[in-house]
This record gives sequence, structure tokens and C-alpha cells, in this order.
Amino acid sequence: MPELLRNGKQGVMMGKLGSGPDGVLDGKVAVVTGAARYRGIGRAIALRLAADGADVVGTGLARDPSEIPAHERERGWRGVASLAEEISALGRRGLGIIADVTDQSDVDAVVRETIDTLGHIDILVNNAALPSDAGVASILDMDDETWLTTVDVNLNGLYRMTKACGRAMRDRGEGGCIINISSMAGRVGLANYGAYCATKFGVIGLTQQLAIELAPHRIRVNCTCPGSTTTDMMDGTIHRSAEAAGIPEDGIRKAIVSQIPWGRQGRVEEQAAVVAFLAGPDASYITGQTLNVDGGLRFD
Ligand code: NAD
Repeated sequence: MPELLRNGKQGVMMGKLGSGPDGVLDGKVAVVTGAARYRGIGRAIALRLAADGADVVGTGLARDPSEIPAHERERGWRGVASLAEEISALGRRGLGIIADVTDQSDVDAVVRETIDTLGHIDILVNNAALPSDAGVASILDMDDETWLTTVDVNLNGLYRMTKACGRAMRDRGEGGCIINISSMAGRVGLANYGAYCATKFGVIGLTQQLAIELAPHRIRVNCTCPGSTTTDMMDGTIHRSAEAAGIPEDGIRKAIVSQIPWGRQGRVEEQAAVVAFLAGPDASYITGQTLNVDGGLRFD
């Protein structure tokens, strides 16, 4: 069951009135999954949506203290609890919920608690995913558990969150928008990344069919494909690739960057900015689209 991080009687963190920017998302309520990591894309999205005016619910997994990176420990970072405080500092209402997207009761509780505390849901960002190299192996050698777990988090989790939040949007009758985070691995097959690729391709397929299905409810559904972006997840992938190849991490990083026309990895703020655009009124006629945010790596 999710754990609500409450501050005060209302069970929701209130920022100083009027201290945030008057943004294009004023009055909107957003739910962002997988937002517990300090350097993650999810946190950057949550903060950007809040800066643009939305009240934001950040969800994330409970973490074993031994898995928390040193830089988060040194900062005193407490996952979604700290994120809720940051949102509050931007003058918006922030709520942090510990929830696993593979657990239907957690997903239902996210929707229930969001509506109970913030009133409704306008925006869902499906960001949660396993690391791209979790169980990297040829399909011929892959253990079934790796395949099934990856599908359960990256694809079934997105299905559960979309269904639960989509129903709340439909029942309210005020429309909404859903933004799914895929990957360049959803655009092109990568050897030994079968489970990750299959789920990320699936995310794009779901985006397209949902856009048609939910249009009558005025719910837009779009997708972004980040290219290599500096986060703990990407650093971990680079680290493990270097170990496996027996070469320094810098060699792997240089090889990645050498393929990117823009000549560097992406920044989380750059991923968040595109999500904020897709969530906002300037994207009112965009649905079913998948946008690469990758420094020019791919054109499809
Ligand atoms: P990240 O690890 O910080 O973010 C993923 C989050 O999902 C983590 O907070 C993790 O705890 C959470 N998560 C995992 N399993 C979960 C579950 N069962 N329930 C709820 N949450 C769960 O990594 P990131 O790099 O910030 O990635 C964010 C998104 O961007 C992911 O969808 C990822 O596939 C995508 N992406 C990232 C890159 C990159 O280079 N960083 C590239 C392409 C795509």
C-alpha cells in the first residue's frame, strides 16, 4: 500500500501563497510516476510542471537504504517526501506517494489520494521504468523472470496507471493529457536489450491507439523518446557496460556522445521542458505523437 507523506492536517504540503510563477498550468493537477530520484527525469518533470503552475503528485518506489546513492544521502534527499517539499517551495501543492506501478492496489490508491487531496487529475506522466540494462542478455539466454518483470513495470505499469487515471479524467469530463516516456530503444532494436526495447516500442504503440480511443473524451496522449540523458540510471548503464567491456567508463561515454549530432548527452531539464510543452495549452492539437529528445540522433 502506498505511504502518504503528509505535512499538516490537510495531508498535503502547501507552498507559500503566490510564491510560484503564474504559469500556463495554473489549476491543473499532475501525477508523475518514478519521480523519487534526485537526478532523475521524473523529478525534473515534476518540478517543471510545478514551476508552470500545476499541483503535482510524485510517486516512487520505497528504497532500501543500501540502494540510495551517496550523493542523495549527502543531500539528505528523502525521495518523494523531499520532492513534495520542493514543489511546495515553488508555491504549488505537492504530494509524495510511495507506490509500485506493478501493484494494482497502489495504483488505485494513487488515484484515490490524488483526488481526495488535490481534487482531480489533469495530467499523467508515465515515467517509471526499470534501468535499460536490467537483465541485458540475448533473448536466447534471457531468464523468463527478467522478461516478465520488465514487461510488468515498463508496459503493464503504464497500462495500469493510464487506465486508472484515464477513467478519472473521463468521469470528470474535463479532458486531460497523458505523456508516456519511451526511449530511443523504442525506435530501433538494440542487441541484448530485448525486454527493454519491446516494452519501449510497446509504449509508442499504446500512445497511438490511446490517442484515437481517448480523443472523444478530450484526453490527449503523447510520448517522448529521450536519447542518452545524464541520470543515475544512465550513469549506471554506462558503468556496467564499461565493466563488461573491460574499458574505462569515459570510453563508453565518448562512444555514446560521438553518435549524437549535438555532441553531448541530454539534460533532465531538456526532457522535462518537452513534457511540459506537451502538457500545456500550446499542444492542444497534438495527440498520438512521439517526439525524439535526443540531440538529433534519430529522425523517426
Ligand atoms: P530513473 O531510474 O531515475 O527513473 C525511473 C524511475 O522509475 C526510478 O525512480 C525508479 O525507482 C522508478 N521505478 C522503477 N520500477 C518501478 C515500479 N515498479 N513502480 C514505480 N516506480 C518504479 O531513470 P531516468 O533515467 O530518470 O529514466 C526516466 C525515464 O526515461 C524512464 O522511463 C526511462 O526508460 C526513460 N529514458 C531514460 C533515458 C536516459 O538516458 N536517462 C534514455 C531513454 C529513456
